[in-house]
Amino acid sequence: MSAIGIVGAGTAGLAAAALYARAGHDVQVLERAPNPGPVGAGLLLQPTGIGVLRRLGVLDEVAAGAARVSEVVGTTVGGRRFMDLAYAGLGEEVHGLGVHRGALFTALRGAAARAGAALLPGVEIVRRQDRTLIDAGGARYGPYDRIVGADGARSAMRRFLPVRARIHDHRWGALWGIFPDAAGSFDGRLDQYFDGASRMVGFLPTGAGAVSIFWSVRLDRIDAVRTAGVGAFRADLLSLAPVAEPVLGGLTSMEQLMPASYRQVSLPAWHDGTLVLVGDAAHALSPQLGQGANLALMDAAALVDAESLDAFEAARRAQARFYGFGARALNVVFQNDLDLAAWPRDRLMGPVSRMPWVRRRALEVLAGIAAGPFASIKT
Ligand SMILES: Cc1cc2nc3c(=O)[nH]c(=O)nc-3n(C[C@H](O)[C@H](O)[C@H](O)COP(=O)(O)OP(=O)(O)OC[C@H]3O[C@@H](n4cnc5c(N)ncnc54)[C@H](O)[C@@H]3O)c2cc1C
Repeated sequence: MSAIGIVGAGTAGLAAAALYARAGHDVQVLERAPNPGPVGAGLLLQPTGIGVLRRLGVLDEVAAGAARVSEVVGTTVGGRRFMDLAYAGLGEEVHGLGVHRGALFTALRGAAARAGAALLPGVEIVRRQDRTLIDAGGARYGPYDRIVGADGARSAMRRFLPVRARIHDHRWGALWGIFPDAAGSFDGRLDQYFDGASRMVGFLPTGAGAVSIFWSVRLDRIDAVRTAGVGAFRADLLSLAPVAEPVLGGLTSMEQLMPASYRQVSLPAWHDGTLVLVGDAAHALSPQLGQGANLALMDAAALVDAESLDAFEAARRAQARFYGFGARALNVVFQNDLDLAAWPRDRLMGPVSRMPWVRRRALEVLAGIAAGPFASIKT
């Protein structure tokens, strides 16, 4: 039995904690938040992430409160449907799950606790001394045989690797909120509407009759959007997606919309000695391809299965690099002041994606099983 210290009780950290503890290790999860709880927006879980939840034994619990997503759709303001990806093209039972981040957290925390992992809240790790971790108040944790840095896109643990990270903070992010969708206007699909590259809104059903709305916005314009108020926001959104009318009845204050920013991270190495990074700490990416939480779940499973940290990194690197590159490329055509950047997307993506090979490949990318332009991972 080894002593494992995991920094961060997010998707990657809790999944790794549950799997390590189940394998008989002595696991501590050190989490900065004093009261880690079920907060956050909706997430689209892909078949790959769903597979890890099944392995963790929490799929039924997560699925019970989530929404089945059968397709991902993209429509221009002029009504051109340039993206229409139905998971069924990969098999009758293949689908995604729209899930509230809080529901995922609750299920993973439960799995970690049942397996015997200890969660220590209110512990912000600021230093590492070999196999020991030190928090902001000077308290020491460990020594550990393995330290897992699962502390997200703004990872502090990343500093303790002897390599330089490449970090890009996107100028664009989103305002998001969760609203009741009593009429089920978005049941079964992630629905996205686009006007050039500068306006975009997405609707993701997240179960229990709720839908998450993501409104694309340049970060330096968030204050102006908030100041303009609910009336102006509603009018702008409805001019792009009139289908949202019934859902927007639930929007009465701009306080219901939370800002999200996106960071892209790549690292020449994810481990050194006892320390290894997983999830967003190792390879954060914008959510354009809906993969971050899925990659985090797959990292956790691969880490616990790997015979060595070299083997873990070899197993995961190609896929993380591929999705990182893809997410960054999509950001150019999805979130950009230059509307012209979206022209090829609107005109070519529809016809090209009807070609059988391209269609299948696009579905594999969506489902999270691609690991390169022509390579896939085994599931
Ligand atoms: C708006 C938005 C929409 C998204 N949509 C999707 C989607 O549809 N599908 C998808 O798969 N992904 C999506 N993602 C990405 C996904 O949320 C992340 O990739 C995923 O949460 C990464 O998990 P993680 O465990 O690596 O990090 P996190 O979930 O960020 O967890 C990190 C944890 O570490 C803790 N922590 C940080 N620093 C310290 C420290 N120094 N000491 C102790 N604890 C610390 C934090 O408090 C946190 O609990 C989206 C992201 C955003 C912003």
